[in-house]
Amino acid sequence: MTPAPDLPTFSARLIRWQKLHGRRNLPWQGVRDPYAIWLSEVMLQQTQVGTVIPYYLRFLERFPDVASLAATGIDEVLALWSGLGYYSRGRNLHRAAQVVATDHSGVFPRSAEALQQLPGIGRSTAAAIAAFAYGERRAILDGNVKRVLARHLGLEGYPGEKGNEALLWRQAEALLPADAGPEAMAVYTQALMDLGATVCTRARPRCAACPLRQDCMALREERVAQIPAPRPRRALPERETAMLMLRMQDKVLLRKRPATGIWGGLWCFPEMPVDGDAAAYCIRHFGLEVSPLGHMGQGAPLDHVFTHFKLRIHPQPLRVVSAPPAAMRDEARWMTLDDALAAAIPAPARTLLLRLGPPGRAQAEQSHG
Ligand code: SF4
Repeated sequence: MTPAPDLPTFSARLIRWQKLHGRRNLPWQGVRDPYAIWLSEVMLQQTQVGTVIPYYLRFLERFPDVASLAATGIDEVLALWSGLGYYSRGRNLHRAAQVVATDHSGVFPRSAEALQQLPGIGRSTAAAIAAFAYGERRAILDGNVKRVLARHLGLEGYPGEKGNEALLWRQAEALLPADAGPEAMAVYTQALMDLGATVCTRARPRCAACPLRQDCMALREERVAQIPAPRPRRALPERETAMLMLRMQDKVLLRKRPATGIWGGLWCFPEMPVDGDAAAYCIRHFGLEVSPLGHMGQGAPLDHVFTHFKLRIHPQPLRVVSAPPAAMRDEARWMTLDDALAAAIPAPARTLLLRLGPPGRAQAEQSHG
């Protein structure tokens, strides 16, 4: 199969396809405000569109501009982010807003190069913001675009490998529309994103409907299912921790984690070494006398996988038998289940809280005296 010599360019086919078949009505489409575009781009990293939309709308309603985001505290940002995961994105968003407010007089930098200097904005995100907001001629290479280009090129090997990634960046730049105006750059960038999300999908891509099928190497060589090659497997190191699920009447004890490190600044169950004595630990650290609580299911181990290690969590459901007044330190707080679920908490804490009872349970318990 040889592509027709008069085949329109890669970018021309994509732009045409986007106008006919691209996604419509996403709340951030057609937006030219770099702040709102930035918000959507950061939220869409590692997260599905359907999940992002309500978060994006809530966030914009509460923080309609970069000044309002910069002026708030990190706790409120993380609480609004709760459930979206990858909380470092929320922390970076807040830091970047403060940098824009202080170092750029509240005005977003006007080029991809300058945008990339802000916390949490990588090369592809900076390019996407600059393309959508300013029509800058810049290549993007997010996860979906990597897949599209890897297949179109017939790339051997894992696209995240350094040499392959550099090759894909060069290809992404080479394929940019030659002399696109601002409008065409925005449409082209959106087209790449849409194609990766709706046609050249990870599983069961719809090659028959693809505007790139005439010169797609993966399709030509029947290697679509093999590209992109998966990340080479390496065993993740494992760590273990015990989490104390302390209950006092209808409340649970959560502790605010230090600002840096995993789950930085989030509320979580207090941790202790797995081989420690929970009762002695609670007396020593909180001045609380405790006894075991709950059925087997609440204490079942829970695995959480980070990029660089796997964490096995051993929950310790405990009931507080006696608590001297003012036993708590500042960073620990008793919360109802509902308040805890609404706070900025990491995913495993959410799972453990739900083991204690579904949302709404706290009010139900209170209203029944
Ligand atoms: S032809 Fe198929 S594999 Fe190739 S880019 Fe299009 S959807 Fe992806």
